[in-house]
Amino acid sequence: MDIRIQKTFEALFALEDVREIFRQSLPNVTSPEEEHSIKEGINKVRKILDDIENCTGTPQVRKIADNINIRSREEMYINIQPIQAAGRLTSEARKALIAYGDGYSVCDACSKPFRLDKIRSPPIGPFHEQLASFLNMDVARVVPGARRGFQAVASTIVNKNDSVIVSALAHYTEFLAVEAAGGIVKEIPVNEHNIVTADLTAEKIEAVKRETGKLPVLVIIDHFDYQYANEHDVKDIAKVAHQYDIPFLYNGAYTVGIMPVDGKDIGADFVVGSGHKSMASPAPSGVLATTNEWAPKIFRTTQMVGDVTKRKFGVKEVEMLGCTLMGSTLIGMMASFPTVRERVHNWEEEVKKSNYLIDGLLAIEGSRVLSEYPRKHTLSKIDTSGNFDIVAHGHKRKGFFLSDELSSKGIVGEFAGATRMWKLNTYGLSWEKVHYMVDTFQEVAEKYKIQVHRTDHFDGNK
Ligand SMILES: *Cc1c(COP(=O)(O)O)cnc(C)c1O
Repeated sequence: MDIRIQKTFEALFALEDVREIFRQSLPNVTSPEEEHSIKEGINKVRKILDDIENCTGTPQVRKIADNINIRSREEMYINIQPIQAAGRLTSEARKALIAYGDGYSVCDACSKPFRLDKIRSPPIGPFHEQLASFLNMDVARVVPGARRGFQAVASTIVNKNDSVIVSALAHYTEFLAVEAAGGIVKEIPVNEHNIVTADLTAEKIEAVKRETGKLPVLVIIDHFDYQYANEHDVKDIAKVAHQYDIPFLYNGAYTVGIMPVDGKDIGADFVVGSGHKSMASPAPSGVLATTNEWAPKIFRTTQMVGDVTKRKFGVKEVEMLGCTLMGSTLIGMMASFPTVRERVHNWEEEVKKSNYLIDGLLAIEGSRVLSEYPRKHTLSKIDTSGNFDIVAHGHKRKGFFLSDELSSKGIVGEFAGATRMWKLNTYGLSWEKVHYMVDTFQEVAEKYKIQVHRTDHFDGNK
């Protein structure tokens, strides 16, 4: 490992220790002891900086608070972990974490009407407006994860025993949001290509109507599902839902923040995105956006009155439980937003890199891609039972041989021990890293006598 990575963490930590002295001291007054501590602290930082400059030193800090390891995976490796790729923070977001880490840090300038989305300093109110327009919806709120967006909608719309249409590839959090509201999920089966279509949606709605005597109350579809990252026909599905007067929730956990999403064009009544999955934001974060028609229902304000005190809390929104993301989580999301807003326009290039990698894997004899192909997303599911898995059977490390080989070359994030079906995500990797990955996978294959059909036909992508 490059010692400079370790030393960079140590320098940041040492500066935090200096910062702590300022926090403990009187305003504008430092005691001689504090001055001494500051000097000591700075000297420590300076020595660490020398180590960074000269590639010297040994690790001095192994843990945070005794038992928490430093996480340097993103600095040390190429990480292809399926859910982590587009949630990696920008450096602006990391600065936000440092500056706004204190609990209710965003509440400094909170004033009437005392609600998160009304705060203007830092510019949280304007951020909400930008989020809505980014998704081409009317109103947006930040929520602690896409799941909490589903929950707010389900809790508003779904009553006991109501049916909610999801797909056979739906994320488990959709199941749970419906369950929490007392509803029942009904899955649309996928077609032979693992795609959810408008026709299958219509058939399912009809079937539910026949079976229960009632129409479903909500349709939730993932634009790209988490299993194959296949693209589903959200626009036509939204149309079908509306033909039955059923609202449509667009699940953009794998789209909002990485590709352009136009809620109005899709015909979505609700757009849900995940901050920590696709918006380069700290967890838990996400967005729930809706139309002017639905906003008064989903974001209804409290009507409750205390029976003893007669207190009322006027503008607090019930489903948001008043305020949602109160500190560095929100400010980190805001700090990444300018980058996120721009990066969605690079989506085609990201998909090209994804296809380049998949082609490189398919060139290894015995590989298959289980996701739709050519790829339309950076997340893919592949099947290496025909090559790496055969090697694993004869290897003393079994399936771990592949993770051993890859991590020794600086690639991590594939499910350790898996050599049959596994997922990877190339989002945000440079062409240089993608080329390096293809070379590495092919070299590992050749090392174990698996044939690689090298071709030049990828050159167009370079
Ligand atoms: C990851 C994921 C979710 C959950 O997102 P959170 O922001 O973690 O709640 C929901 N749906 C899909 C399709 C996902 O991939």
